[in-house]
Amino acid sequence: IVNDLHRAAGRSGVGAVMGSKNLKAVAVRGTKGVGNIKNPKAFMEATRAGKAVLAGNGVTGEGLPTYGTQVLMNVINEVGALPTRNHQDVQFDGAKDISAEAMATPRTSDGKTHLVTNQACFACTIACGRISKIDETHFSIENKPQYMNASGGLEYEAAWALGAANGVNDLEALQFANMLCNEDGFDPISFGATVGAVMEMYEMGVLTKEQLGIEAPFGSAKALCYFAEITANGIGFGKELGLGSARLTKKYGQPDLSMSVKGQEFPAYDGRVIQGIGLAYATSNRGACHLRGYTIASEVLGIPVKTEPADTQGKPELVKAFQDATAAFDSAGICIFTSFAWTLADVAPQLQAACGDEFTVENLTTIGERIWNMERDFNNRAGFTSKDDKLPKRLMTEAAKTGPGKGAVSGLDKMLPEYYKIRGWDPEGRPSAETLKRLGL
Ligand code: SF4
Repeated sequence: IVNDLHRAAGRSGVGAVMGSKNLKAVAVRGTKGVGNIKNPKAFMEATRAGKAVLAGNGVTGEGLPTYGTQVLMNVINEVGALPTRNHQDVQFDGAKDISAEAMATPRTSDGKTHLVTNQACFACTIACGRISKIDETHFSIENKPQYMNASGGLEYEAAWALGAANGVNDLEALQFANMLCNEDGFDPISFGATVGAVMEMYEMGVLTKEQLGIEAPFGSAKALCYFAEITANGIGFGKELGLGSARLTKKYGQPDLSMSVKGQEFPAYDGRVIQGIGLAYATSNRGACHLRGYTIASEVLGIPVKTEPADTQGKPELVKAFQDATAAFDSAGICIFTSFAWTLADVAPQLQAACGDEFTVENLTTIGERIWNMERDFNNRAGFTSKDDKLPKRLMTEAAKTGPGKGAVSGLDKMLPEYYKIRGWDPEGRPSAETLKRLGL
């Protein structure tokens, strides 16, 4: 599901649900202003104050507009949490080649960069989006004029999944694969991570050149671009890539090579080096996801307070706080990137002015917790159990080989029972009757 041509609700296959119902698009045209604001004057004051906070913050006022989310590539590589070659490594020697800085570096004598401009979603003052262009001489677009225009990206997550996850450091190959993902409607995170699993199986001899249609060792930009095209067109091995890593690795007898939770592939942070994000992935209601409790803010960036990535103590509380606050931000219709600068104390006055006094910080936190529990209850009724709150064997048993977190494996076993307790769930991960009653569910 894509809006503004390149802003995608990319994860979890929601577009496939639309597709299964033969729904191609939803077009909306408004003819009236925004009505029924409870207190228009207070609303303008609250949003003006919120805007000033965003402008004055180092991340939302400077880092994101200047470099976009891809600014994280070198940062996460340095802390040794950049999953590389299907999570076999946690640092990528080609990270700088696919970073935001590389996007903004002149690539021709007349000073042209990959990056054309930044761009904002509707009415956003941060403008973290990127518009970029592939060099017309690059092999991926040779004789393909339809791909020579500027297009959306790269985002950090896509650059990681198409790059480090596969050991590919060819920025233009990443741009090409990302463009196909946007144009043809598949998630670059899940696609890139699936290619990583395929490359590992190729190197193990489980998959051959004859099956794949190309030699596919880690680092092959040609294989990445080829896989993107055959997946988009649903031909040859592309049909199997379209299964995603969980079903594909299972089919070839290697289920432990799928770096996923509840069937959804990991985003761009290693869950054994950064303990909180590992717990957040394992307990996310929609499978591994960085947008359902971005503890990286605290564990790496120190927002709102710095916590140590290697610590497991205190992480269940941290994860719960991030998950509940995120649910509240999301349901307010506000981009989660504002939370680098805003807390719910910045959101509450805006909602109060727009909708009513019941939107206090305390109530918003409870609203977030209620959303989280309702989703969990839905999942439980659909057959998920505590057994699904798990991480792949690799993260539990294979230690990180390099970086500040060298030697780390996930401490999920320690954190999960504590997390259930703090949530008011039973040892099977089911919200207790008391918790449901407290939340009015
Ligand atoms: S900060 Fe959020 S709303 Fe603004 S441009 Fe980036 S993704 Fe879009």
